[in-house]
Amino acid sequence: MAKLECHVNSCANNSNQFCCLPNIQVSGAMAFDNEQTCCSSYVSMQQASFSNAVGTCSVPNEVMPIGCQVQNCSYNAGGDCAASNVCIGGSGASRKGETSCLTFRAQ
Ligand code: SF4
Ligand code: SF4
Repeated sequence: MAKLECHVNSCANNSNQFCCLPNIQVSGAMAFDNEQTCCSSYVSMQQASFSNAVGTCSVPNEVMPIGCQVQNCSYNAGGDCAASNVCIGGSGASRKGETSCLTFRAQ
């Protein structure tokens, strides 16, 4: 479990710098820096409006389990993130590839 802060204010799951999902997945299996990682749970406002999900993000979830594919991060413990605090960046991102895990630390 990690305390998760998220600056992706363009994501439909974001509420005041926190995420409302019960858990997230971080991608970037071959990443060697944080820019090659991303939050694969990102949902654009446009995507959310198509699925009538707009407005469902109301209760921020500050602590959650994070699944992670980034093998080269020192916090990766068999596909789970073992960091106590994680920060997802990408203010103004228009797609998941523009988000990143700022807590990434190369092994
Ligand atoms: S970008 Fe990821 S961590 Fe941030 S609010 Fe969206 S789903 Fe949650
Ligand atoms: S800190 Fe490392 S292990 Fe945790 S989510 Fe970010 S990239 Fe994955």
